[in-house]
Amino acid sequence: MRAAELQTAFEPAITQDGHPVEVAANIGSLKDAEEAVALGAEGVGLLRTEFAFMERPQAPTEDEQTGIYRGIAEVLGPDKPAIIRTLDVGGDKPLPYLPMPHEENPFLGERGIRFGFDQPELQRTQLRAILRASTKGKLRVMFPMIGRIEELRMAKAMLEEERQRLDVPPVEIGIMLEVPSAAIMAERLAKEVDFFSVGTNDLTQYTLAMDRGHPKLAPCLDGLHPAVLGLIDLAVRGASQHGIWVGVCGGIGSDPQAVPILIGLGIKELSVSVSTIPSIKAQVRSLDLARCRDLAERALTLETASEVRNLVPLEGD
Ligand code: PEP
Ligand code: MG
Repeated sequence: MRAAELQTAFEPAITQDGHPVEVAANIGSLKDAEEAVALGAEGVGLLRTEFAFMERPQAPTEDEQTGIYRGIAEVLGPDKPAIIRTLDVGGDKPLPYLPMPHEENPFLGERGIRFGFDQPELQRTQLRAILRASTKGKLRVMFPMIGRIEELRMAKAMLEEERQRLDVPPVEIGIMLEVPSAAIMAERLAKEVDFFSVGTNDLTQYTLAMDRGHPKLAPCLDGLHPAVLGLIDLAVRGASQHGIWVGVCGGIGSDPQAVPILIGLGIKELSVSVSTIPSIKAQVRSLDLARCRDLAERALTLETASEVRNLVPLEGD
């Protein structure tokens, strides 16, 4: 990390022509939240709550979870939002104390929100913990792996039932856009939520039909593939019809070659790995929105991810 980037880490990320981009952090713990705030994060764009479930011999209780989410809300203070993603296990993320049935295609099986419906008490306990903590800060709830509108409605209904039981104010609700059907249906999903956050790791895996952890295929998995960018474009257009914002919390949000293209596509929030916060903020300040839009438009017409990367030479190239 460069000294100059650290010095300006607390200044907002505004492009040369005055367009603000929120730079938030992807975190897994309270300690990450502290580090993120110390490096100038403007919020938490993704709390991967599964880490708290994976590092213990059993699921954390409602009180334990409330303590974790409340702690994060307090570290962020009243103005910085934290997006709490509900438990995203299954697929590549097993929970040792909750044996999952063998599946032939676990990435197409009971992952993310589908697992939450299979284990409703686990899901409801987590929702109650988030709602209880939400009185301490600006917490938002985000559901992972939504592929069908019915799933979103079921997840929202569970949240609303628990909210009414606890008698606390409503929280903002968003979904991960990481299944191609959700990006394609974005305009219809946008009527039902407050925001989208694009999970480019899974969106790329499902769009290109390549396992994200596959040792041979992983190098071909590039979120800058024009097919993935086309889905992000569709999602942003759908979202804008209903006035909701779109962020990116997948890996390409922290990729300097992707940043100008994502901003050009209309992404309003980049949730990035903690250590890259100062450099991504510095990069945003060096950009011009009009030029980013032009870059994004050209990227959408290209044929390969390498061609897209060639549009944005890395510093020193
Ligand atoms: C993603 O899929 O891009 C994402 C951010 O979620 P995860 O990597 O936790 O699956
Ligand atoms: Mg994902």
